[in-house]
Amino acid sequence: MTMRSNGTLILCYHRIAEGVEDPFYLCVSPSNFAAHLEELSRAREPSILADVSVPSRRPRVVVTLDDGYRDNLTNALPIAESKGVPITVFVTSGILGNHHGFWWDRLGTLLRSRPPHVQEIDLPVGDRNVRLPLGSSGIRADLDSIRRHLLPLRVTEIERALDAVSERWQVGSAPPPDAGTLTSEELRQLAASDTITIGAHTVDHVRLRDRPAREQQDTIAGSKAELERSIGRTVSHFAYPFGRRDDFDDRSVDAVRSAAFDTACTTIPGTARSGTDPYRLPRRLVMDWGRLRFQVQLQRWKLG
Ligand SMILES: [Zn+2]
Repeated sequence: MTMRSNGTLILCYHRIAEGVEDPFYLCVSPSNFAAHLEELSRAREPSILADVSVPSRRPRVVVTLDDGYRDNLTNALPIAESKGVPITVFVTSGILGNHHGFWWDRLGTLLRSRPPHVQEIDLPVGDRNVRLPLGSSGIRADLDSIRRHLLPLRVTEIERALDAVSERWQVGSAPPPDAGTLTSEELRQLAASDTITIGAHTVDHVRLRDRPAREQQDTIAGSKAELERSIGRTVSHFAYPFGRRDDFDDRSVDAVRSAAFDTACTTIPGTARSGTDPYRLPRRLVMDWGRLRFQVQLQRWKLG
């Protein structure tokens, strides 16, 4: 065995669900998830983030799920328990209590119910209006171009922009019922399992990059405090919303460190090794792959 294979592979899932609208490729079906966990247990040592810097003879794998969808409790948990694979769920703390769903799910609903005569979307962005053409190359392309304009905004501004579109088009923007998020009670049920570690993912899932330091500290430390209050346990791990290199900055990393988190996950591809910055842990995004395709990916990631 070469030294190279002896890192910790950290996988990033979002939703475990099937037969639902999934324009952002966030869902892995329960049967594929079960197959993934079986393959992982054969190839690697299922592990937790707390052990990421501890040397190990067998290559490790850590399974994480981002955002805090209800299907993490209803679908992911029973599978993880039956396969004996620990999972970490990074929860956006603002979803607890009254929440009308993540803005990307609202955007998906809006575009699916777009009136046929509407060929463009007007987004109030700050004090200007951004007009984007719609429908020329499908809903995924529309979502991508709109998302690019919304990402740099505060979440309250994004919500306002979507409210305005909903009003102008005279269509609702409630996310589909299957895209529900965890309530406080469901979070406690999830956290009660030995299989589960709860991590934080900001209060509002803002894209952190270029936000003022104070705002970043508030949403990062705030999510830790809210989750700890809710589950009555220390929350030691964090994941940057969106998580790519250009989705957070040095202020985000400083804020995570000062909030006394032990680790922070990105979605920058790679394998964590001794010497990897614990506040910039790489992760691999997992898609709804069948068993064979997943095996191929595991091989590729080992070499990558
Ligand atoms: Zn997220």
